[in-house]
Amino acid sequence: MEKNVVDRFLKYTGFDTQSDPESNSFPSSKGQVKFAKFLAEELRLVGLSEVEVDWNGYVTATLPSNTQKSVPIIGFIAHMDTSPDCSGQHVNPRIIESYKGGDIVLHEAKNIVLSPKRFPEMLRYIGEQLIVTDGNTLLGADDKAGLAEIVTAVEYMLRHPEIEHGKIRIAFTPDEEIGRGADHFYVPKFGADFGYTMDGGELGELQYENFNAASAHLVFHGVNVHPGSAKDKMRNSMLVANKFLNDLPGREVPEHTENYEGFFHLLKIVGKVDLTEMEFIIRDFDRGKFEERKLLLMGMVDRMNQEYGDTVVEINIKDQYFNMKEMIDPQFHVVELAKNAMISCGIVPKIVPVRGGTDGSRLSYMGLPCPNIFGGGHNFHGIYEYIPTKSMESACRVIIAIASGLTEIQDD
Ligand SMILES: [Zn+2]
Repeated sequence: MEKNVVDRFLKYTGFDTQSDPESNSFPSSKGQVKFAKFLAEELRLVGLSEVEVDWNGYVTATLPSNTQKSVPIIGFIAHMDTSPDCSGQHVNPRIIESYKGGDIVLHEAKNIVLSPKRFPEMLRYIGEQLIVTDGNTLLGADDKAGLAEIVTAVEYMLRHPEIEHGKIRIAFTPDEEIGRGADHFYVPKFGADFGYTMDGGELGELQYENFNAASAHLVFHGVNVHPGSAKDKMRNSMLVANKFLNDLPGREVPEHTENYEGFFHLLKIVGKVDLTEMEFIIRDFDRGKFEERKLLLMGMVDRMNQEYGDTVVEINIKDQYFNMKEMIDPQFHVVELAKNAMISCGIVPKIVPVRGGTDGSRLSYMGLPCPNIFGGGHNFHGIYEYIPTKSMESACRVIIAIASGLTEIQDD
């Protein structure tokens, strides 16, 4: 299985599937359309049923059930695009047969080195096979490792009919990296009871919590008068905005928070005397605290307007996405199944919150509870991306363990 998943992954890295946030088309880049067709062909060759590429470039397929037991339909999902942050063209992966520890020179002439001094997690993989870049591009393990793992796992199950499993649905989605991956995902047609995105990082990662997220746009109105005759007449909107900033809890910003701590993040400020605009994002795992953060901003705005006796500040808050935990908690067996599958494969689950959003969080709110499972890679979205091949094989085994786990539980 290890050779199959590695060969497959290496083949996938040959496709340039960088998504493009500037594009209005869907998928956002032609490379993804080409890759979708290739993947559909591969799924047919492997022997899956109901292989389809829809109008929006989503690839779906089915591994039919081979059990008489009534078990839920499980989905496995990975994304086809790579990050716009780093080139994904002419990816030239290199295999380090047995990592000795120490530096790996990625690009000699440019002096680009993958070093455990900077990335100490590398030392966990001494003696293992690693796949690294040539220092010019990202690797694309995010999320082509996920694709290769899903295809290899279902192929293995097709060739080993003695492994009992229910119906498995798979979906390969475009444009995850630009936040559009769930936009045209049609949950009823996919037809799974719950699913997993194979889009996490290192071995053992299991994620079912992410931020609640909102944006806040603030407008500060000033009054401009010639500075020479401004006394008691001028109101400088930039200084009003500054006062607002100073009243915010100063430590609750990204650079001072971690784990489950939320924040206000000032993204942008543009101002002149008569008008200043600010953009914030608001993040918190806890829904109550998230709502409190929004109320805090609105309260500050109200107080300021009362103080000035005029509408000096306006605020517009928009919710962006929510913590999938709310959708997962009532169906916690979905997390338990993944956890037990990992343990049965000898992997210690690492349950960590995502300090951001995932496609799985949007899918969870669309009716498909969808935690995120490790794909095995490290240092996503850049030239230092690498993946230990054993972690890829482990991910395949976890997929199989999840798929067959329910039939085993029912088997007394
Ligand atoms: Zn990803």
